[in-house]
Amino acid sequence: MTWLVQPRLINDPFGDAGLYLDFRFGKRALLFDLGDLHPLPPRKLLRVSNAFVSHAHMDHFCGFDRLLGVCLGRPLRLELFGPPGFIDRVQHKLAAYSWNLIAGNATDFVIGVAEMHGDWLAVAAEFHSRDAFRRTALPPPVAKPGILVDEAEFRVRAVTLDHGIPCLASAFEEKPRINVWKDRLRRLGLPVGPWLTELKRAVRRGEPDETLFTVPSAAAGEPAEVRVSLGQLKTEVLHIVPGERIVYVVDAVYHANNAARIIELASDADQLFIESPFLDEDAAIAARKLHLTAAQAGSLARRAGVKRVVPLHFSRRYLGRPERIRQEIDAAFAGAMPGATDGRIVATGTC
Ligand SMILES: [Zn+2]
Ligand SMILES: [Zn+2]
Repeated sequence: MTWLVQPRLINDPFGDAGLYLDFRFGKRALLFDLGDLHPLPPRKLLRVSNAFVSHAHMDHFCGFDRLLGVCLGRPLRLELFGPPGFIDRVQHKLAAYSWNLIAGNATDFVIGVAEMHGDWLAVAAEFHSRDAFRRTALPPPVAKPGILVDEAEFRVRAVTLDHGIPCLASAFEEKPRINVWKDRLRRLGLPVGPWLTELKRAVRRGEPDETLFTVPSAAAGEPAEVRVSLGQLKTEVLHIVPGERIVYVVDAVYHANNAARIIELASDADQLFIESPFLDEDAAIAARKLHLTAAQAGSLARRAGVKRVVPLHFSRRYLGRPERIRQEIDAAFAGAMPGATDGRIVATGTC
């Protein structure tokens, strides 16, 4: 099966954190973090519709200028998401430049920014190039808790982690692929029609199997409509394939609260991209710097039941020996690191 997106780390593991999700069909991409973006050519940056910035430490936000410079002349809106205070930071970046040559241009490049506070999108604003990127307040987007983006084919969910400051961890979740068995429909005497679109929507919304569905009947001598349970329709006429789930976790101290949030977000994910800056022998340094160790990252991946774990964001103290980090996360992922700090609390804090 072909997935909706293709994930790719932007930099080598010692470089800035960042993940690029390229849509296989259509020119579109999502970015997780805006650190060093130079490995991405302009044609790839021009596809970016949404960028999710975990926090505003420099190695996660310094690439904003490059993205802005490449996208300035394009008509497609850019949607940014970040933690509390993020709109101010975008505003300050934009205020650092003179815009007299593009203000008033026919092409209006618009940047929308929304902040997640706890579990909610709480504040929003937009900046128009035509208006020299002056800040305009917007009502916060209407969204369910923890949801940043909800489109027909996918959604992006986030949780707030503790990194001394709030830091967003995000999950890209492709919605289930739903196909209709047309021959089975015919056998049941049910017609093809707009009700099938409604049926697919109900499945994507996650409505319970007991929900009764009004279906037009195509059979002669039957009532014009019949009531059938969603569960029966799912079993008898639909072929449902779960969508891909890709999770991105960076910059978080290891404690029970963070661990629980990461495990919930990454539960059963297909791929977990997770920071692994330190070896477990340096767990005290990791705790002081409010980061994970590779053993902790591997243990979180194991407890979340992910299919594949990819480490990133290695400390430069291990330059020349990245295999040590890879071996450690693999061992912890396999459950083969007794005595490591994977299950113990090495720091305390709150989100
Ligand atoms: Zn950080
Ligand atoms: Zn970082």
